[in-house]
Formats: sequence, C-alpha cells, structure tokens
Amino acid sequence: MNFCPKCGSPLRQQSVAGDPKERLVCQGCGFIFYQDPKVSTCTIPLVDGKVVMVRRAIDPGRGLWVFPGGYMDADETAEEAAVRETREEVNLRVRVTDLVGVYSYRTGIVVIVYACEVLGGDLRIDRESLEVQAFAESEIPWDELAFPSTRDGLRDFFRTRSAEG
Ligand SMILES: [Zn+2]
Repeated sequence: MNFCPKCGSPLRQQSVAGDPKERLVCQGCGFIFYQDPKVSTCTIPLVDGKVVMVRRAIDPGRGLWVFPGGYMDADETAEEAAVRETREEVNLRVRVTDLVGVYSYRTGIVVIVYACEVLGGDLRIDRESLEVQAFAESEIPWDELAFPSTRDGLRDFFRTRSAEG
C-alpha cells in the first residue's frame, strides 16, 4: 500500500504516539493504515470416515492439497464463512461441530479450522481446484500439503480424534 485509501496522498512508514511499532501514515490527512491480518476459515469434512481435500488449481499452493476453506467476509461469522466456503469448494452442506485450531505464522493470515458434520451434497469441485479426494489418515499426502495450517490442522484433528477414541 503506497497511497492513502481516504485521500490518495502518499503513505510513509513512521512512528505514532503511544505505539511501539512504526505505521504507515498518510502525509496528507494523517490517516493511519493498519495492516490487519486476513481471516481464512476452513472445515475438515469426513465422507465415509475419510478427510475430504482438494488439489489447488491456483497459487498459492497450486497443485497441492488442502481442506475446503477461504477468506471470511465482514458480514458473516467465522462458522458461517467456513460452511459457505465448504459448499462453494466441494459442494458439501456441513454444520460446524468443534474448533480444531487457530493457526498464524506472521504471514498476515489467521486460519481457523473447524471439525464439521456433513449433512448432504455430492463431492464436486469449483474452478479453484483440480480434483477432490477423500483420504484416510494413513493416506494423507503429508509432503504435498498446500500450507503450514493444512499440516497443523490435520495433525491436531487426528490427535483429537484418537484421544476421543
Ligand atoms: Zn490521507
């Protein structure tokens, strides 16, 4: 971001009173541009006891596997976003049941992963994916996962499930 979203004047990195970090400040109107993280919400749906994942058709992570999810809109809850993204990406109607985990890596993205119950729908992909497949725990392609949150979310999901028996 180089220019103020309010007045179009240049932004410059500078210190702000009471804030230990330098911020982007508009040189015209004084607007402080905070680089807030984006929130991505995901589900781990099970079909026949196997984890539903898609192989991504777009970057980042093109050709790699991830469970359904995407960016949350401002006018929905995190759970609603996860349910919507799951329907859009793999055509499954789901209900969120449990939080698997919240993952962040100083990359500007916070990933929220939910366990869910599948209520209906037949697996189908949209244009963001190359294929959809359901994996047993022993079949997960650990070396071909799209993001650190994919690896960490699956690890926590399986750990919780085995702890519950
Ligand atoms: Zn401005």
